[in-house]
Amino acid sequence: FLTGKRALITGSTSGIGLAIARGLYAEGAQIVLNGFGDADAIAAIQNELGGAAWVNEDLTTAEGVEALMAGAGDVDILINNAGMQYVSPIEDFPPATWDKIIALNLSAAFHTSRLAVPHMKTQGWGRIIATASAHSLVASPFKSAYVAAKHGIAGLTKTLALELAQHGITANCISPGYVWTPLVENQIPDTMKSRGLTRDEVINDVLLDQQPTKKFVQSEEIAALAVFLCRDEAQNINGANYSIDGGWTAE
Ligand code: NAD
Repeated sequence: FLTGKRALITGSTSGIGLAIARGLYAEGAQIVLNGFGDADAIAAIQNELGGAAWVNEDLTTAEGVEALMAGAGDVDILINNAGMQYVSPIEDFPPATWDKIIALNLSAAFHTSRLAVPHMKTQGWGRIIATASAHSLVASPFKSAYVAAKHGIAGLTKTLALELAQHGITANCISPGYVWTPLVENQIPDTMKSRGLTRDEVINDVLLDQQPTKKFVQSEEIAALAVFLCRDEAQNINGANYSIDGGWTAE
């Protein structure tokens, strides 16, 4: 049902973004990939996704996002997904890392949206979806920049939803709990250090402790909801923030 639609997914060379790219491609969308990684591995993904374009820009600056949008061309579906994490007590949190996380996890979505909206308005159809997080709704200690950015993206999404409601454009957030991707795996060592725990203790007593199901969410489950939000049946789902977190934020 997405034949003829062009979808840009930021941070789609790995994890959740890649799963969303696969999901949208399976419905016929033309895919524009973005993100870092080994060129051969990305070439294989491009091939798998019907010769998808790959625009390799760093989204931590406005210029980087502008270059991405120039390279991507007009997009009908914008998935703001690229993100990073850093775990540290506030007094040791490096200011440059704070700036980088706010830039990538929040400001990049402002820049992609402002540049994607004119085309969406002209054609009277568009979908803007953010991979937010359970941390857009609740906090955890030692993740000040991430939690602040994710709460910010929830607010940006609501604003876009109101602003664009009469143009056939919807804006929504998907808020996963812990999904087993490199982003989660890479924060285990710092969490071990911040909390004085072993690897198994971090997985079972910190990460899965938050999820009543005691299971990691799968990237494909996030992708399935993103695909649904692109359907015409979802045209009145606007400004929503959907939790896929095994019940975490119900507590
Ligand atoms: P991941 O590390 O597997 O993928 C991140 C992607 O972003 C990669 O493609 C990477 O190359 C790209 N990226 C990183 N820095 C970039 C930069 N400066 N410019 C452009 N691209 C960049 O992570 P993931 O777990 O798939 O996370 C994707 C999104 O989902 C993030 O916004 C993350 O905050 C969110 N999220 C993840 C989880 C989880 O448990 N994994 C939970 C909730 C929300």
